[in-house]
Amino acid sequence: MSRVLVAGGGICGMVSALQLSKYYDEVILVEKEASCGGLFKSYRNKDGVEFDYGSHIAVETGDPDLDNILFGDLAEENWHIFRNRKVGNFFKNRLNSDSPNIDIRQLSSEQYRQSLEELLLAGDEPSNEVNLGSYIKQKFGKLLSDEVFEPIMQKFCGSDLSHLSVEAHRVLGPTRVVALTPEATREIKNSQRYGGKFSFHHYLEGSSPSRYYYPKQGGIGRWIDCLVQKLKDRGVKMRTGLSITKITDENEKLKSALLSNGEQIDFDLLVWTIFPSALSGLLNMNYRLEPPQFRVTTVVHFVFDRAFKVDLHNVVCYEPNMRTFRATLYSNIGEKPSLEPPFHASVESFSDTRPDPVDIERTLLNELKTMGIIDENAQVLFSEAQIFEKAWPVMSQSLIENTVKQEVGISSEYSNLLLLGKAKGHSFFMQDVLMESYRKIKSYHVQ
Ligand SMILES: Cc1cc2nc3c(=O)[nH]c(=O)nc-3n(C[C@H](O)[C@H](O)[C@H](O)COP(=O)(O)OP(=O)(O)OC[C@H]3O[C@@H](n4cnc5c(N)ncnc54)[C@H](O)[C@@H]3O)c2cc1C
Repeated sequence: MSRVLVAGGGICGMVSALQLSKYYDEVILVEKEASCGGLFKSYRNKDGVEFDYGSHIAVETGDPDLDNILFGDLAEENWHIFRNRKVGNFFKNRLNSDSPNIDIRQLSSEQYRQSLEELLLAGDEPSNEVNLGSYIKQKFGKLLSDEVFEPIMQKFCGSDLSHLSVEAHRVLGPTRVVALTPEATREIKNSQRYGGKFSFHHYLEGSSPSRYYYPKQGGIGRWIDCLVQKLKDRGVKMRTGLSITKITDENEKLKSALLSNGEQIDFDLLVWTIFPSALSGLLNMNYRLEPPQFRVTTVVHFVFDRAFKVDLHNVVCYEPNMRTFRATLYSNIGEKPSLEPPFHASVESFSDTRPDPVDIERTLLNELKTMGIIDENAQVLFSEAQIFEKAWPVMSQSLIENTVKQEVGISSEYSNLLLLGKAKGHSFFMQDVLMESYRKIKSYHVQ
């Protein structure tokens, strides 16, 4: 009988377990928390209003088989399914409801002129840069690097550009800028050299064909409930509230794992979706590497007495002096904003140390008003801050180098191990994490 053990019950572990159930007689998933889902979880307040902890909206990957695993059996009438994610941004004291990308025409006319000149003279998309500082300078020029990107990445990552990996920029953006006129942008985007630097002026233009999914009720956690049901239907055994305390090996193969309840599991393949440092520790492989650094992530949930002033799903705040990273306006999610209460939102913010919950709630509320997202006179019917110490890793060069070093080192020792997931350091977004994992599992089994 063949058996695979999957460590970590986030979206990566769950979807991998579903895929693996095609290849193995028995699939066992171990999750240290009481329930699966990782950063895709929701919670319900005392009035029954639902908020998400981390990720909000699920998106198709473009691979039909993988999308079938993710969304295949959903009852479509219970879901908001849409093609355009309405994302705006706040920059230089202006709310741009058309695009998540910075409009550099909001700079002073002298700065705009100079930055545009540098942008047009800058070279092709840098391909080998590992240092975000030199990558941004090469791609966008010095002025935008110093005046725009440096303060934004300081705010998001708590670190200057030269310490960050290029991945940090891909994850947190903005990866392109709005400039010129909409017509001139359409022209210039046809060129290979400028396509990756200039953004269309509206989120409706140039969007991907992938569809987005959000449950009409229950928050994104409802999706996890559907996947848990699928796992049960496929006979995957879920061991929640447990962690792996020991792993043994034999003849260059990993052999068995001991769980914190004393259960021993022998396996043919180990799929690891947690930080590799946790595995190298269990295997006594001492890489003497610094542990990953995390930003404290605070998510403040609000319910208001009235609808939002904008129809956006999300607003990203690029103002360096403001604490907001991103606001998610749940009652706007879908094709059209809901006219019925509750009118609820979650606002994320990063910091180096734990903020005072009352202070941060007050600050983020004021910022929603400053950005023009909610009316000045709106009444807050509910608010609560949730603080996560280890949700958002600082994507420094050393984090990426360390995880790659560990991944290559551990993988080269054992032939029956797959290291997958966000914790590997390369990919962060659900779409990237799942595509990479899906391909790796497939190529491991179709050789
Ligand atoms: C605030 C925030 C907002 C985000 N927004 C977006 C977004 O808008 N779009 C997007 O695509 N992505 C977003 N992401 C990223 C997204 O959450 C990740 O892509 C996704 O969660 C990766 O899944 P994963 O399974 O690799 O990791 P995780 O979701 O972190 O899951 C890892 C799992 O492993 C478990 N675990 C850890 N250690 C052990 C152990 N020793 N034993 C057993 N189990 C263990 C954890 O409890 C967890 O359940 C966001 C992330 C954060 C933090």
